[in-house]
Amino acid sequence: MTEGQVSPPLAQRARALRSSVIRDILKLTQRPGMISLAGGLPAPDTFPLELLRAGFDRVLTEHGRAALQYSTTEGHPPLREWIAARETARGIPTRADEVLIVSGSQQALDLIAKALVEPGAPVLVEAPTYLGALQAFSLFAPTWRMVPTDDGGLMPDALTTDLTQSARFLYAMPNFQNPSGRTLTHERRSALAERARRHDFWIIEDDPYGELWYEAVPPPSLRAFACERVIRMGSFSKVLAPGLRLGYVIAPEPVIATLARLKQATDLHTATVTQMAAYDVLAGGHLDTLLPLTRRRYAQQCAALLDALDQFFAGRGHWTRPAGGMFVWVELAATVDATALLAQAVKRQVAFVPGAAFYPLGARANTLRLSFVTVAAEQLHVGIERLARCLDEPVAHAATHSETDPKVDAANGAAAASASPRNDDASRAPAANR
Ligand code: PMP
Repeated sequence: MTEGQVSPPLAQRARALRSSVIRDILKLTQRPGMISLAGGLPAPDTFPLELLRAGFDRVLTEHGRAALQYSTTEGHPPLREWIAARETARGIPTRADEVLIVSGSQQALDLIAKALVEPGAPVLVEAPTYLGALQAFSLFAPTWRMVPTDDGGLMPDALTTDLTQSARFLYAMPNFQNPSGRTLTHERRSALAERARRHDFWIIEDDPYGELWYEAVPPPSLRAFACERVIRMGSFSKVLAPGLRLGYVIAPEPVIATLARLKQATDLHTATVTQMAAYDVLAGGHLDTLLPLTRRRYAQQCAALLDALDQFFAGRGHWTRPAGGMFVWVELAATVDATALLAQAVKRQVAFVPGAAFYPLGARANTLRLSFVTVAAEQLHVGIERLARCLDEPVAHAATHSETDPKVDAANGAAAASASPRNDDASRAPAANR
């Protein structure tokens, strides 16, 4: 707020959302010449511009004003049918009544937070996890419980009675996770479902990247293992275009009914004409030609980034080798502070997101997320070389890098969690949190 401007008295949840240092640094990434590995945006060349143009045109011609009218909260019936049929074809029988169309899966996170997060009650998340989910959930001040991960993703064995006690749900991304790029194996999916049943918690499965595999289709959705207690979220942002703001939830009917009531209070329904136009493209079978192109392109860019890391980062740390998706996660020597490194990197015209942003507590300051899909292969190479040079400068090793924030631990209540520096990070620059 600039001087002289006034604000109404804010509710506690709005006061808790603050800007962050990283956000200010990332503003600089808009500068010309910057190689930004910080964004989480899909490559615009993959957006089916002409197909959508034709889709909107056809819908407005064929449906006229009905396409511009209010419609049902649950979503455009043919689109719900299409999603249910696709899920069924993958071996998980699904009815259209089990599908809710939402305005981007970010809205699903908001609705799920409103439906399930009780102030002070524990929420289980992977460490690290998606920043946008931390934002959505933290508005309702949960207590965070971190589920440890390794190169195979979250570790189901860590889901003990102690860790899961009183937790209503676990939020997880089994495919090409944001930010780590990791994928949960078939065995771990099955073990996770077993733990969920044993300790009686639900699973929120967030899967916006599942279609973006490079070589092989990932293991089945968590619904295949525990259909009765999984709320699955999907999105058209990475397979069509994020500006459509179209996503969906698949869950048992009573859950859909609750989320639909909450959605009614939020925005009545998702844009009618947009749902119809997207359905026009999907029903035309175009995903079958679009997806292979996107997969190949992202696989090539991922390979280019990994080559650059192998060349310039050898001996400096450890990084993931994703089998799909848009992100690589790097863990550097314990002495490196990635936020200090970012400040240096921006001076050298390269940017990334410091990994601390993706932990609600106990942030690992020596981690970072690299997004590679909007940067050309040669530029990825230049960017990683520049970053390696920054690592040779002493400032990147200067600041604090505590593995756990002593003020906050999993046993602390919501008040402690919301007072933690991590909640500031939950209001990050839009491009970075995608
Ligand atoms: N979940 C995850 C894991 C994401 O990475 C994103 C955005 N990148 C979203 C949800 C939100 O996607 P959208 O609202 O565009 O569907």
